[in-house]
Amino acid sequence: MNFLEERIVKDGIVKKGNVLKVDSFLNHQMDIALMEEIGKEFKRRFGDREVTKVLTIEASGIGIAAFVAKEFGVPMVFAKKSKSINIDGDMFVAEVESFTHKNKNQVIVSKRFLSEGEHVLIIDDFLANGCALQGLISIVESANAVVEGCGIVIEKGFQFGGRVIRNLGYRVESLAIIDAMDSETGIITFREQ
Ligand code: 5GP
Repeated sequence: MNFLEERIVKDGIVKKGNVLKVDSFLNHQMDIALMEEIGKEFKRRFGDREVTKVLTIEASGIGIAAFVAKEFGVPMVFAKKSKSINIDGDMFVAEVESFTHKNKNQVIVSKRFLSEGEHVLIIDDFLANGCALQGLISIVESANAVVEGCGIVIEKGFQFGGRVIRNLGYRVESLAIIDAMDSETGIITFREQ
């Protein structure tokens, strides 16, 4: 087991509805030493790529993406969730359905912070059905920028997002891939990587 899998087994809580709660160390309270390790691991995995910007989505991707951006020495931008239907032409927009809240949000990135020809590494905490990643990918492509890869902390491999995004030809690196989890027993099975 890698450092993250060990932590998931120790502190993750399997909830009903295919939800893993990791709020004691990843996305509510944050273990900063773990964040640093995650940032370094993504740098190791994507070190062969030219990266000029790290992109994530609010709120839970922000902390993680900040540590990744620090390793690459580049800015981090996060897509904001917006309720406004009157979005002006200064924004890239995508529609994203939230896995945890089951609602749809428009997410926006200002055109000032994503330029043509940039090399973008997309980071998020979870990959489930892939809506968040697809929204971020479409924003990068609307900017005529290049998706260098997608770095995911926890991929739920029993949901279809990872397969869809890889089949579209994008490189996805997940630090932990869960193949099964049981809310009754709490048992989590990881994919060998
Ligand atoms: P997707 O768009 O791939 O269906 O879901 C990814 C997004 O939903 C992530 O940004 C993450 O915030 C949230 N998410 C999906 N599954 C889980 C989960 O099991 N636990 C938590 N805490 N968040 C999740």
